[in-house]
Amino acid sequence: MRRLLAGAFALSILASAGTVDAAPAADPPHEAGIFREPDLVELTTLDPTLRLDVRYARTDNFTGRAVYSEARAFLQRPAAEALVRVHRALRDKGYGLMVFDGYRPWSVTKLFWDITPADQKVYVADPAKGSRHNRGCAVDLTLFDLATGREVPMPSAYDATNRTAHVTYAGGRAAARAARDLLIEAMTQGGFFVYPYEWWHYDWKDWREYPILDLSFSAAAARAGADGRTAWPSFDLAAARVVDLTWAFDDTTLYWPSSPTGFERTTLHHGPTPGGYFYSASSFCAPEHGGTHLDAPIHFAEGRRTADQVPLAQLIAPGVVVDVRRQAAADRDYRLTVEDLTAWEQVHGRIPQGAIVLLRTGWSERWPDRLGYFGSDTPGDASSLHFPSYGVEAAEWLVRQRAIAALGVDTASIDHGPSNAFEVHRVTLEADVPAFENVAHLEQVPETGAFIAALPMKIAGGSGGPLRIVAFLRPGGALP
Ligand SMILES: [Zn+2]
Ligand SMILES: [Zn+2]
Repeated sequence: MRRLLAGAFALSILASAGTVDAAPAADPPHEAGIFREPDLVELTTLDPTLRLDVRYARTDNFTGRAVYSEARAFLQRPAAEALVRVHRALRDKGYGLMVFDGYRPWSVTKLFWDITPADQKVYVADPAKGSRHNRGCAVDLTLFDLATGREVPMPSAYDATNRTAHVTYAGGRAAARAARDLLIEAMTQGGFFVYPYEWWHYDWKDWREYPILDLSFSAAAARAGADGRTAWPSFDLAAARVVDLTWAFDDTTLYWPSSPTGFERTTLHHGPTPGGYFYSASSFCAPEHGGTHLDAPIHFAEGRRTADQVPLAQLIAPGVVVDVRRQAAADRDYRLTVEDLTAWEQVHGRIPQGAIVLLRTGWSERWPDRLGYFGSDTPGDASSLHFPSYGVEAAEWLVRQRAIAALGVDTASIDHGPSNAFEVHRVTLEADVPAFENVAHLEQVPETGAFIAALPMKIAGGSGGPLRIVAFLRPGGALP
């Protein structure tokens, strides 16, 4: 991925920075590991009421020169969305966020290092390590007063390099310290960590998941337009054909073998009433996981989203169907591989960012025959199950390299039958990517071009729940 991005070096920024002493070849450090697909978002496109004061685009910063050619601020999408939530939460208190800096191309970090005297280098990030700003996961900001539009006084100026910048500094005016503490509390609640020596610097909690980048701002904005949500082809819902991918809930609905109960519907009344009209109503009771259902991130990832918290944008998105019916027919424990996915992309093109990926194994044909579907029908025993699903590397690749919104499968689990460590669940749910299980009738959905809506019951605090999932097909859309 780094290789792909290298072509988009921040040349304009270096050019505008004036003369830099000839330095050895400038390359970002190589990092081992799998990272999320970068998804830098310009903050003001999410909320134009955020204020910008990008001092690195002017000369009033510690370098004394304009190191950015444009006054823009970007963050990785989850961090950007969290920042907007903080900004809006502060509204009631009469404040908004004023951003000094967000994503910073690696070349600029290198420039800061090169122009800083040796005895001052402690205050700048070492380009050999990169900074969290380079990952699009750090933001420098302060509060502004909504009533006056003025910056709120803080215990120190932005970029101060002394103890007045420390978050524990107890001197200065009490009002300034209170404003600083309010900002820190609001950002912390939003999922950011303050840097203890700079009250204005906040790191997004998931910064480790993103690579060091050296895209210019304009290249970042172009990428967002090129493969972000905004680039999805428009879809005419009024002209679409709708396919139901949901199994009905009744007493044949399959639940996990160790589930103590299944779906139970009890008639409360069905028939004529003393008032002379007909009336029918039931109550129902069911475990969250069974039938066509959602796995919310918290199912295997403590602290992650519950069923009611999964954003609608992750539930309504373009669909991608990956077919492994042939492999699953030969091996009922088959696991999807990264090679299957790259082969899919060779035929259909790149899996779009934010897509819902659905794995078609052909298992729908076996529903609701418990033995055929699970590979075992021993009540209470989940130790000898046999059905196909995702492999952990493939799931990780989809989450990190393709930034998918959600994944689903037409078997009972996103981990294949023999799994007992549930690695796929852990990898995907930990990344806040929800899953759909026991999806029906994927044979009716083309591999590309469908639009999926997967709306679960909104159970507050739930780890999942019954799901109604449908596919919208373009008129005349090719079927497999
Ligand atoms: Zn489940
Ligand atoms: Zn599951």
